[in-house]
Amino acid sequence: MPAESLGPLHSLPIRRKRAATGLRRTYPYKLNAADIRRDFPILDRRVHGKPLVYLDNGATSQKPRVVIDAIRNFLENGCANIHRGVHLLSAEATQAYDRARATVCQTMGASRPEEFIFVRGTTEAINLVARSWGDLHIQAGDEILLTEMEHHANIVPWQFLARRAGAKIRVLPITPDGALDLDALPALLTDKTRLLACTHVSNVLGTVNPVSEICRMARERGIVTLVDGAQAVPHGPVDLGAVGCDFYVFSGHKMFGPDGIGVLYGRGKLLDRLPPWQVGGDMVERVSFEESTFRPPPDRFEAGTPNISGAIGLGAAFTYHAGLDWAVLRAHEDALVAAAHEALQSIPGLRIQGTVPGKAPVVSFTMGGIHPHDIGTILDSEGVAIRAGNHCAQPLLARLGIPSSARASFACYNTFEEVETLAKAVWKAHRYFG
Ligand code: PLP
Repeated sequence: MPAESLGPLHSLPIRRKRAATGLRRTYPYKLNAADIRRDFPILDRRVHGKPLVYLDNGATSQKPRVVIDAIRNFLENGCANIHRGVHLLSAEATQAYDRARATVCQTMGASRPEEFIFVRGTTEAINLVARSWGDLHIQAGDEILLTEMEHHANIVPWQFLARRAGAKIRVLPITPDGALDLDALPALLTDKTRLLACTHVSNVLGTVNPVSEICRMARERGIVTLVDGAQAVPHGPVDLGAVGCDFYVFSGHKMFGPDGIGVLYGRGKLLDRLPPWQVGGDMVERVSFEESTFRPPPDRFEAGTPNISGAIGLGAAFTYHAGLDWAVLRAHEDALVAAAHEALQSIPGLRIQGTVPGKAPVVSFTMGGIHPHDIGTILDSEGVAIRAGNHCAQPLLARLGIPSSARASFACYNTFEEVETLAKAVWKAHRYFG
């Protein structure tokens, strides 16, 4: 269980000898990473005969045993469809599904579970908003404001919407160090702007955007806001009241939950007025061959049998996540980033993209003319799993002037030894190809 699994935290600050630089450093927090790692069975795995060093958490996180157990328990002991059955199993499944929604709502600082729609993930959530809210509200001549650091999932649905409606996409640029250029924001919030869609944390740069401030500026001008929280929720609790957006979206699989489940939060007043985007069973009030009427949210947006086991797994992931000491874990993740930057920066030709202070634990880099896939392959042979490619952010990479990069993305269960293994493996790639 979450709180207990952290165990009594180490009473002494961790001291780590860092072979890559030979430096000895004292970290100003108390953490026994091994206690967290024990919760994630896959971390004991070996790949190519080496201990797995999983640094592809930005793509998907690993799953703690409590999540695996919650899904297995449902499938082994409680499998039934929700809302439909008169039998005990169905009633239990419905309760578990609703409980998962209530858990998500509560841990995100909200009070109305019906504002939380279960979807497949971030991508589906944004498509839902673009279809349902967008087709209702966006007209010819309107403007949709995005940022230069968006994932394709937060670009393409708006592009399609703009094309359908005859609207225009505008883009808030980034500064050279990888922050949003907030000085350029006021001029881009025009009387034509209807929506501002912005990522909370960049999946390439790691930049944590000041979304509260951005949403406040948009709200003052009556502009609807959507925040893509896919890379934010894995690194600590998100308080939706503090963010102050109209829509917040994320995927379960990046924050210790299963794949195929995610959340769209929508402010009640907005959601209540939106039409469904997919239609069918379990979301209607009355159906005749002439017309149909629809249930209120969340049912209106969850047509058909949903991902019941996924929602239950997500509920377990939220409970686990909420039980962790994020003050400690954030300090740990910050220290991992600092250690990774320090170790990697000494490698000739290596350049890190994204150096904004306080960044999330995402370290993207290029190394001279070495193709990131080649770096990734060498790292894999050392047991180190990273991402290589365009990270579904081609406009951002074009702005950075690179076609692709390597990306090590950390989770709270990663260790300083793993940073050292990463650095040694990157040195190996440098020697091999450099
Ligand atoms: N937004 C961001 C910032 C992401 O990093 C990702 C995935 O990497 C997505 C959206 C899309 O998430 P999913 O593929 O789970 O829908």
